[in-house]
Amino acid sequence: MIKKGVSLNIFLVIYILFSLAFHQGPLIKWLDAIVNFSSFSGVSAFLFIEVLSILLWVILLTPIFFISIKLGKFFAVVLLFVNATATFWMNSLGIVINQELIASLFFTDYSEASGFLNQEYLIHLLIFGLTPSIFVALVPIKPLKRLKISGYPIGAGLILVAFISVNPTLTDWVDKNGAYLGSRLLPWSYIGKTFGYAQDMRQGYYSRYYGEFALLPNGSIEDNKPGLVVLVIGESSRAASYSYYGYERPINQATQEVGFIALPKSKSCATSTMITTGCILSAKGRADWKEAATEPLPSYLHRLGIKTFVRTNNTEMPRLNVGDYKTTTQLASSCKTEFCLAYNVLKCEKSLCVERYFDNMLLADMQPILESAKSEKVFLLLHFRGSHGPNYSDRSPKDFAPFKPSCDAHVTQCQADTLVNSYDNSIMFTDRTLAGLAQILSREEKLSSVVLYLSDHGQSLGENGNYMHGAPLKEAPVEQLEIPFMVWMSDTFKGSRNTSDVVTQTVPAQDATFHSVLGALNILGGPYLAERDIFTSN
Ligand SMILES: [Zn+2]
Repeated sequence: MIKKGVSLNIFLVIYILFSLAFHQGPLIKWLDAIVNFSSFSGVSAFLFIEVLSILLWVILLTPIFFISIKLGKFFAVVLLFVNATATFWMNSLGIVINQELIASLFFTDYSEASGFLNQEYLIHLLIFGLTPSIFVALVPIKPLKRLKISGYPIGAGLILVAFISVNPTLTDWVDKNGAYLGSRLLPWSYIGKTFGYAQDMRQGYYSRYYGEFALLPNGSIEDNKPGLVVLVIGESSRAASYSYYGYERPINQATQEVGFIALPKSKSCATSTMITTGCILSAKGRADWKEAATEPLPSYLHRLGIKTFVRTNNTEMPRLNVGDYKTTTQLASSCKTEFCLAYNVLKCEKSLCVERYFDNMLLADMQPILESAKSEKVFLLLHFRGSHGPNYSDRSPKDFAPFKPSCDAHVTQCQADTLVNSYDNSIMFTDRTLAGLAQILSREEKLSSVVLYLSDHGQSLGENGNYMHGAPLKEAPVEQLEIPFMVWMSDTFKGSRNTSDVVTQTVPAQDATFHSVLGALNILGGPYLAERDIFTSN
């Protein structure tokens, strides 16, 4: 049979089954953690994903075979190699394929890449990439009946639509887990993320954020006093919704109770997360976007030898070079205290679970950071998911909803008052998490510690028909620009300097951050500007 050639049908069945059997390890591992495989719904979820995957494979491969069998085979071989590579690194490093990973691949240089060419990987590639590729290359495929083949992607597409519409519960579940599932479903993870990356590249985002940074001139560490400075970058958190700035709801009760103070609200440097996180972490503040990029704050501190930790529940930060970088997914396994455990249980219904971590998961694993800060200077950056749209009700736990009724839908499908309720719940949850952070730090009575909190940009909640953020800077509504700026200081920190002027400082938050962190750590000289440091007294 092989000598005469096999039909495309047989070829596709064997190829797709091989891929499902050997390139799904990370996906199955993730599924195993969130569904119960011994239950009906768990098995249904698994089968649902497998059917989706098979149909998507047919939609992907058959149009290329329609053009030419040789081209189809070439494409099939490339996917085998990339899938084998992705599976190996996802399994061995516990990573997923997100857009940041794709972007970093495009900017990696050969010496970095060659570090990955180890023996284990090459053996894996030989077995799961090269060997099946030889079969693909050598097995002849019988001439195609083109009319028939042209119907395959159309037929698979129609079956896909029908299949999705008769399984609304599973479709909804897949949709809710979209980000987690999409980054593990090969080859869709890297195909989709590469398109997303290309689109953002065209808009100029990555040329700045994944290129080479100019090193800043070295400052000097003025003393060897230990202590911890925490910078918290919020998300879509607008000053208009803060009681510190006159909002009538008691949204900031938790931080007020633990002693946070609010500095004057200020305008963000832009309205998109990528640009604003760049400004916040840049020595140049809001001028950052207009000039050649310099190394971001965490990379600078790490290079100076300051112990630097980054914990994130969000994306779109500049490329950072730090020793200790963890996502909430990585932190979940070391979450042991009530600060991070509260609300961060997998949300499960009929043994189908949705993986989602609220920002308080960032408070996991704080003990080693606190221990280090007792003997040396430590910097911790927390990047919150905050009030990220379009579904604000996803940003705070269902049983943490002081303002009711809330709206579970996309912003544009919500009644104005329910949309505000959902958004306010998310702001109040951010406030609760910040208060939790201050409580953790307060337990270490002698520790000199500081928390700075600011948002990346504001948010529109339907004012004049505007929603979300991202308006061009010149025409952006004030709600998208005005951000809160809050500070918490431990008694030991307050005792070490005159902090009475902090509350009256008027430097815009995003211009102040870099220099205030350096000021709090007493790292002067180099890029440090005293006039932007909120901890200098007037
Ligand atoms: Zn943002």
